[in-house]
Amino acid sequence: MSKEHWQEMLDYVESHLPLEACGLLAGTDNRVEKVMGVRNQAQSPLRFVMDPGEQLKAFDWIESSGLDLLGIFHSHPAGPEIASVTDIAEAAYEVIHIVWSRMEGRWQARGFWIEHGKASEVTLRIIE
Ligand SMILES: [Zn+2]
Repeated sequence: MSKEHWQEMLDYVESHLPLEACGLLAGTDNRVEKVMGVRNQAQSPLRFVMDPGEQLKAFDWIESSGLDLLGIFHSHPAGPEIASVTDIAEAAYEVIHIVWSRMEGRWQARGFWIEHGKASEVTLRIIE
């Protein structure tokens, strides 16, 4: 993923404080080409539910653009820095799940592959 896409995600989650924010990453060959914020229907600081209408529109756009869904990102404005039990239970797509967490005013992002009720960390690479 490029620095610009990374920053775009960061700006998006920051601008939705104190609520959890969520969105999708689209691209090809594990390379992100588009960051798409999706409204958090839950409007909660503790959980997210993607607005189904916006999510469907985003999926349609991804498909019509010839891209793949690569990842789902969301924020934990008050931690934890890893995928929560709820995140693991509700993970519905076999994609990378990026968790943005905020500790003492600083954001960090970690990526997880969630399968069979377990989350394993994956490396997120920023390219120039
Ligand atoms: Zn979460």
